[in-house]
Amino acid sequence: MAKINLLGSSLAELEQIATDLGDKPFKGRQLFKWLYNIGQYDFGKMTNLSLHLREKLNEKYIFEGLNIIERKTSRDDTEKLLFRLDDNKLIETVVIPEASNNTICVSSQAGCALGCRYCATGQLGFGRDLSVGEMIGQLLSVKNIFGDDAIGNIVFMGMGEPLLNYDNLITTIEIITAELGLSIPARKITVSTSGIVPQIHALADSGLKVNLAISLNSAFEEKRKKLMPVANKYSLDKLFEAARYFARKRKKMITFEYILFRGFNDSLTDAKKLAEKIKGIPCKINLLAYNPVEGLDYSRPTDEQVDYFAGILNRMASVVTVRKSRGTDISAACGQLAGENIGHKKRSLE
Ligand code: SF4
Repeated sequence: MAKINLLGSSLAELEQIATDLGDKPFKGRQLFKWLYNIGQYDFGKMTNLSLHLREKLNEKYIFEGLNIIERKTSRDDTEKLLFRLDDNKLIETVVIPEASNNTICVSSQAGCALGCRYCATGQLGFGRDLSVGEMIGQLLSVKNIFGDDAIGNIVFMGMGEPLLNYDNLITTIEIITAELGLSIPARKITVSTSGIVPQIHALADSGLKVNLAISLNSAFEEKRKKLMPVANKYSLDKLFEAARYFARKRKKMITFEYILFRGFNDSLTDAKKLAEKIKGIPCKINLLAYNPVEGLDYSRPTDEQVDYFAGILNRMASVVTVRKSRGTDISAACGQLAGENIGHKKRSLE
C-alpha cells in the first residue's frame, strides 16, 4: 500500500495520528516540530519518539517535499522555482532577495479563475486549489535550497487568488506561524487579494495577525471592471468597506496595490479619484509600473509618468511607495507567473 505523505498535516492531524498509533497526543506535537521546525523528515532519526511510534510511522507514512523541475535566476538575483505537482500541474514560487532578507512569493492555486486582464496566470484559467502541503511545500523547498534563514517575508501573491482557497490558506498560515512549526511571525506574512469581500471580513475575524494587500488598480468602478472581472461581483464601495473593517478590526494598515498602465489609469484625474476614495482608510499605496505580458494589450508607463503619479498622490494621500519590478527577465515579476512550460492557451482580450 502506498504510504501517506504527511506534508501539510496540521498539528491537530499529527496529534490524532500519534493517538491512532497508540501513543500520547503530545508525541504528535513532537512530530510536528521535527517536520516543520527542525526539518528532519526521517522518522527513524526522531530521537524523542518511541521506537514503536517511529516504526509505525515508517510503515504507513512518509514526508516528502515538492518536485522542483526548474530553477531560474534573474539578472537582479531574483529566483523562480517551478514545481510539478502529483497531477502534473505546474506552479511557481519566487524568491526576491532584499537588503535585509528575502521575500517569498507563494502560489495558492494552479492557474486562477479570476482572469484579470493584465495577468499571465489569469490567462491560464483555473486548474485547482493548492493543498496545504503544496503551499507549505513551496516554503520548505526554499528553506532546503537557500538555507534555514532564507525566509524573511512571505507574500501570498503568486499564482491564484488566496482568499478563494480560504480554508487551506488559514491552515497553511497556522503551520507557518506556529512556534513549533516554521515559527515565522504573522506580521511577516501578507495575503494579497483581488478583492474577495466576504473573505476579507473572514480574515479580519480570524484572529490571524497577517497583513492584507488589495489589488485596486483603479478607483473608478468602470475602469476597474475592465481590468478585473471580479469587480463586477464586488463593488468598490463594498471593497472599501471591507478594507475599513479589516483595518479597524486588526488595527493594521492596509496596502492598496496599484499597477500603473500607460494612458489607462495614470492620469491626474485617476490620482485625485484614488486619493478621494481612500480618505480615512489607514493605508499605504504601493505603485508598480505594469510588467508587460506577451499577447496582452496594456503597456508600461515611463518612469517619469510613474514619478509624476506618485508625486501627485504623495501630496494628497498617506504613504505612497513605488515598488520596483524584480525578476522581469525570467518572467517572475508580479502578474507574469504562468509556468512557461505549461503550453496553455492564451485567452484574448475582449
Ligand atoms: S492578478 Fe491574481 S487574482 Fe487576478 S488573475 Fe492574476 S492571479 Fe488571479
